[in-house]
Amino acid sequence: MRLSKAHLKTLREAPSDAVLESHKLLVRANMIKQESAGIYMFPKLGWRTVRKVEQIVREEMDYIDCQEIHMPHVNPAELWQETGRWYAYGPELWRIQDRAGNDFILNPTCEEMFTDFARKEYSSYKELPFSIYQIQFKYRDEARPRYGLLRTREFIMKDAYTFDATEEDLHTAYMRQYHAYEKIFTRCGLDFRIVEADNGPIGGSKSHEFSALSDWGESDILYCDNCGMAATAERAETRDEKQAPEEMKEMELVKTPDCKTIEDVCAFLKIPTAKSIKALMFRTYDDEMQPKDYVAAFVRGDRQLNMTKLVNALNIPAHNIEFADEVEMGAATGIVGGFTGPMGLKNCIIVVDSELVDTVNMCAGANQEDHHMLGVCYGRDYTGDIVTDIKELQEGDACPHCGQPVKFRRGIEVGQVFKLGLKYSESMGATYKDENGKDHPYWMGCYGIGVTRTMQAIVEQHHDDKGIIWPMSVAPYHVIITVVKTADEDQMKLAYDIEKKLEDAGLEVILDDRDERPGVKFNDADLIGIPIRITVGKLAGEGKVEYKLRRDAELETLTADEAVDKAIALWSEEKDGRHLYKNLSEETLNAH
Ligand code: ATP
Ligand code: MG
Repeated sequence: MRLSKAHLKTLREAPSDAVLESHKLLVRANMIKQESAGIYMFPKLGWRTVRKVEQIVREEMDYIDCQEIHMPHVNPAELWQETGRWYAYGPELWRIQDRAGNDFILNPTCEEMFTDFARKEYSSYKELPFSIYQIQFKYRDEARPRYGLLRTREFIMKDAYTFDATEEDLHTAYMRQYHAYEKIFTRCGLDFRIVEADNGPIGGSKSHEFSALSDWGESDILYCDNCGMAATAERAETRDEKQAPEEMKEMELVKTPDCKTIEDVCAFLKIPTAKSIKALMFRTYDDEMQPKDYVAAFVRGDRQLNMTKLVNALNIPAHNIEFADEVEMGAATGIVGGFTGPMGLKNCIIVVDSELVDTVNMCAGANQEDHHMLGVCYGRDYTGDIVTDIKELQEGDACPHCGQPVKFRRGIEVGQVFKLGLKYSESMGATYKDENGKDHPYWMGCYGIGVTRTMQAIVEQHHDDKGIIWPMSVAPYHVIITVVKTADEDQMKLAYDIEKKLEDAGLEVILDDRDERPGVKFNDADLIGIPIRITVGKLAGEGKVEYKLRRDAELETLTADEAVDKAIALWSEEKDGRHLYKNLSEETLNAH
């Protein structure tokens, strides 16, 4: 590709709202361009990398016999009404109408459509198992699109769905996808972790997230080096800490004027926060967003409430709950803002963290202005309508499995796999017939990869202050030939010669033949991150060039042929990213 014809429009300045280096660099490198909030177009170089990532995904899906199809982006509302997700998905679901007023959605994910496809197209046990996927634009009307391609309203996702006869077969299908994901993200050059995850609005029983490690990621990961536990903060189980045994005391009302927070109260009463009970008040809504229940949730004073666990405990969609107006809730239930405790409440669902069940002599709000209660004991003074783990696991807490302190990292969720079980097949009547003609629902799984998010996660992990450093496997081009002086015939002739040899060998080459200063060309080459740079300059007359890798600082002066050979050798080694398989386990490598 001759750069003089390509109109590369690199920018010196990043957009003012960009905070992430990867976002700034992709825009400055003219690889992505925002058209409206969270909606991007991809200029040539960016689109080439998108397709490279897609191709890696495609190869690994094809390798496990997952069949590629393509569904429409527009989905009739009826399918979503059938599963109830028309309501449950909430405002992120992008709803549209046709001219006759019929409701449709733009796909945020495709469980309904694929389940519908399965119930129409397949019927016999003989056809099982089967798995299908697509690489398609998805639409989510995110409340706050941000961080470039990381959270957009239109993005490319690979979504696969598996259909099996039994739960064991689903496990096999799930693990095949899981191992394929390990290969995909490895080939993309990502440093990632696999963590247990919450199923969220997709539903089902088991899930893992694949997270590219990054301080900027929005996925919080807790992990234990001792036993290998790794989970998202949303999902991570906690270990209830046992209190030292003590005699139950009588409840005692104490004055706590101007003590609004747990810390204030405990400092005032000179007790540790672990001896107090923290209250959080909520209002839930039904599918039509009409007010439904009041909820008072209680965790130990030094713990944080985990909202995902709370909504799972209440069995409601995440968007059907918000903090309650404490005055209104007080009139209905008896709570008093800042002084709420679990005793004597009415007309509300009391959710108690399991850790509180064994506690005695705690301090809790007295449901009276400026007062708290000491000596509060679970069972004697209050009980929960729901008692379960609703607290966050935090860095330094005991690992739920082995008790060692857990560690914390952030990551960018690039993919997630789900065991759906029978959720969609039962609600949509997607069944197969066994040998005796009896109908059974499919055991289903679904598996997503954010292709465009992955592209940016790669940049987040592979850049320096000069620009992007693409791994060979996803680079828009493999080599850039920079001609220092295009008016010099020797230089142009040698550059064309190198270009031809490389292209004949199968490499993708940019020839920077623009009439620009060398400094501009070098800066652009660094910014767009092409892995190999061959500079043709004043030594062209002697048939010599400079050879440099984007990832290394050193330059080498080589003959043109040596440079070509070196480039071809490196490309052969790294072109599909499989050289990184050395980091994978035998189990993953053998999975097929
Ligand atoms: P998140 O928690 O980040 O909102 P999600 O868990 O809702 O994502 P999934 O339903 O698991 O997303 O979708 C599969 C993949 O699609 C994700 O792992 C992610 O890589 C990608 N993805 C999801 N939402 C977006 C988005 N708004 N912009 C870009 N990619 C996205
Ligand atoms: Mg997810």
